[in-house]
Amino acid sequence: MTTGAPELAPATPANIARAAALIREGALVAFPTETVYGLGGDATSDRAVARIFEAKGRPQFNPLIAHVPDAATARAQVQWNGTAERLAQHFWPGPLTLVLPRRTDSAVSLLCSAGLETVAVRAPAHPVAQALLRAVGRPVAAPSANRSGAVSPTQAQHVAHSLGAGVALVLDGGACTVGLESTVVDLTASQAVLLRPGGAIREAIEAVIGPLATAPAIGRPGALHAPGQLESHYAPSLPVRLDAVAAGPDEALLAFGPDVPQGAALTLNLSAAGDLAEAAANLFAMLRALDRPGLRGIAVMPVPHHGLGLAINDRLRRAAAPRPPPH
Ligand code: AMP
Ligand code: MG
Repeated sequence: MTTGAPELAPATPANIARAAALIREGALVAFPTETVYGLGGDATSDRAVARIFEAKGRPQFNPLIAHVPDAATARAQVQWNGTAERLAQHFWPGPLTLVLPRRTDSAVSLLCSAGLETVAVRAPAHPVAQALLRAVGRPVAAPSANRSGAVSPTQAQHVAHSLGAGVALVLDGGACTVGLESTVVDLTASQAVLLRPGGAIREAIEAVIGPLATAPAIGRPGALHAPGQLESHYAPSLPVRLDAVAAGPDEALLAFGPDVPQGAALTLNLSAAGDLAEAAANLFAMLRALDRPGLRGIAVMPVPHHGLGLAINDRLRRAAAPRPPPH
């Protein structure tokens, strides 16, 4: 087990090969995907998966996504169906995770799926993630590479700041282009269920497979939630105040759009042009940059709820949710 800050290395072919060997030996490697940086470990090894929970300080064993290079490798782990096939054809590789029944001969560790009879699979599009997954040759469990509950990392440096002991290597592949976690869709019932909004937008998914049912937790604070859908999540240290139309001199302001109120101690704009894709890519890095000691909180201007705005608002709502008591 390593201590202190993990080694940061550019994502060259040689370092990707080294990272793959480390994962095959049971070590943890952080790597870029188009959504956020993932903390990768061998998904077929209980011990490697346990190390992921330990490194993140996850209070519970929430199920993790098993990352694969393509649909053919996913089919070896889960009971594939026609809906999965259509979605994979449209959105893979990309920011869409599919929850499907586990195959009886699946190699994915039960700890990875938190003992569930289902497995979440995703084929990421990022070329470094693709190269790494092909070199590992096994599914890779990879939650976001940050301490549990904190803001997700969209740059390699964020990982080095958030995680230390237990991470053998951070592959630096630059800033993540999507900047939000994957959309998670449950395909185990007759109607597909949106478990988590994310980088693949709801309207585009519904255009392919028809209406999605909505998981109870989404948009309904306090409702019973599916595993992993913790209410307080993605949280900076400072309190977060939503739907702000003004900000005080002791507040940081996370703005959106061209009309920004004056008077905040510090202002960053998710997208001056009001572009939701640009806002998604900036969200987590800007929340981090505004999280300065000495301020009263972070005020956030309203963001529209359509397209990627669904996922942006989901993350902001959780960043603003009451924090659990320290444990
Ligand atoms: P993260 O790895 O932090 O991006 O989070 C993974 C997300 O996928 C969480 O919201 C989990 O609850 C969800 N997830 C993973 N596996 C399953 C599964 N088998 N069933 C339902 N949700 C899952
Ligand atoms: Mg996460």
